Amino acid sequence: MAETLAEAVSRRRTFAIIAHPDAGKTTLTEKLLLFGGAIQLAGEVKAKKDRIQTRSDWMKIERERGISVVTSVMTFEYADKVFNILDTPGHEDFADDTYRTLTAVDAAIMVIDAAKGIEPRTLKLFEVCRMRDIPIITFINKMDRESRDIFEILDEVEEKLALDTAPITWPIGRSKSFCGSYQLATNKVRGPDSEEAVTVNGPQAVADRLPENERAAFVDEVELAREACRPFDRQAFLEGHMTPVFFGSALRNFGVRDLINALADFAPPPRDQVADIRTVHAAEEKMTAFVFKIQANMDPNHRDRIAFARICSGKLERGMKARLARTGKQLGLTAPQFFFASQRHIADTAFAGDVVGIPNHGTLRIGDTLTEGENLVFQGVPNFSPEILRRVRLEDAMKAKKLKEALQQMAEEGVVQLFSPEDGSPAIVGVVGALQLDVLKERLSAEYSLPVSFEMSRFSVCRWVSCDDKAELEKFVTVKRGDIARDLDGDPVFLAQDSFSLRYESERYPAIKMAAIKEYH
Ligand code: GDP
Repeated sequence: MAETLAEAVSRRRTFAIIAHPDAGKTTLTEKLLLFGGAIQLAGEVKAKKDRIQTRSDWMKIERERGISVVTSVMTFEYADKVFNILDTPGHEDFADDTYRTLTAVDAAIMVIDAAKGIEPRTLKLFEVCRMRDIPIITFINKMDRESRDIFEILDEVEEKLALDTAPITWPIGRSKSFCGSYQLATNKVRGPDSEEAVTVNGPQAVADRLPENERAAFVDEVELAREACRPFDRQAFLEGHMTPVFFGSALRNFGVRDLINALADFAPPPRDQVADIRTVHAAEEKMTAFVFKIQANMDPNHRDRIAFARICSGKLERGMKARLARTGKQLGLTAPQFFFASQRHIADTAFAGDVVGIPNHGTLRIGDTLTEGENLVFQGVPNFSPEILRRVRLEDAMKAKKLKEALQQMAEEGVVQLFSPEDGSPAIVGVVGALQLDVLKERLSAEYSLPVSFEMSRFSVCRWVSCDDKAELEKFVTVKRGDIARDLDGDPVFLAQDSFSLRYESERYPAIKMAAIKEYH
């Protein structure tokens, strides 16, 4: 019998992996894909990092610095579930991209290096997840190496993240003696991930897998963990108050199967999404989606632009028409794409929870809503006020028009933000991290043959301004004309020399709201 829409939707698990660089995100992603048969050999994801063949010229930066700049999605099936992993850039200079990606997931795996505990990026990313109450599964990685005391790590998660922990498994052995996981509630044991879990008669029954001097400690720890740790409460997990904890070694194939089973069993199916006029439920008949990421020139042979859209409800069928909320125009979805590790395929159907790539020539922007006709707009894809503002200096002044077009495109993709001053002076670009400027420079040169450099601007801070009283806002914009610019959507921003003058002006104009985050709408 054909699968109903509700059944198809409930099988979806859409998640991201959050981690401090080096904790093992790439290795874990690779192992998850391996489980799902999405890749044949471990090493494909890794190879992405070292690949000699250029996907596009600007990715040279990524290769040279060994960082992952692009966000992409990878889909695989396992145990009758469809998993969509949304990859996020590891480097904090691309944090805005990561935050937007997190708006498109229903759950996250938090990878912690067992020797290091909670690191700064983990904390930051966790906070973003908390803002949206995204349920988090914790994976303590690198148990095959020297690690910190397990209870200490759990305490640290509880304290630093204010998150209750519920260890589901306990590591059997540490470092060299690490040989598997022990399921606290069920007395099941699993060695390497290829093995099925087997039920044993208590921790004593597996202690002989360990060197003699570690056996008693293991049995004691399991007993203590059972007594002292909280039992897993799925509701608390779904609300973002509790995290189930797993231990393993992504590199040595331990604990990954426990983790993927947890995603299948505990992680939520596609969540409801808040739109301006109502909340949209995932199993509704009609298709709705929003764009959280634009990526250009993924394939150097086709100068294409892919909009990554998270489907929020219903079913997307190839060839269907969708209404683009921003313009009210119809858009034909003739070639939506799915991504399996390094390959992409045309998708005939996709369901709520899935992420599809929609090729387009600039029609779609970050934050865009697509529907089957209903006039609604999803809320909550954030735009962060840039930390760095620069003017772009062109070496060949004859190419000013071309530069303007190129900057507009880069801004639409979310590579940089673009602000056009009201007084007609040259545009200002804004970025959250300095590496984004490098990407801009590289791409302008490689894709548009526009060699540029950057100049300091007299501004260093910018805020979106709004006011309940439209006349008041207009007055402010007129009076401050020399310090006002428009963003890509034509919304006004106030540019300030420094945070001191920003504070001064916001005190002088209390009715004007100055926002550091703008939600696309
Ligand atoms: P990412 O920066 O979070 O994507 O981290 P990677 O997956 O690239 O891993 C960083 C380094 O840690 C690499 O050298 C991996 O081989 C290594 N690594 C990852 N997982 C494990 C593990 O479970 N055990 C050990 N010993 N090393 C690991």
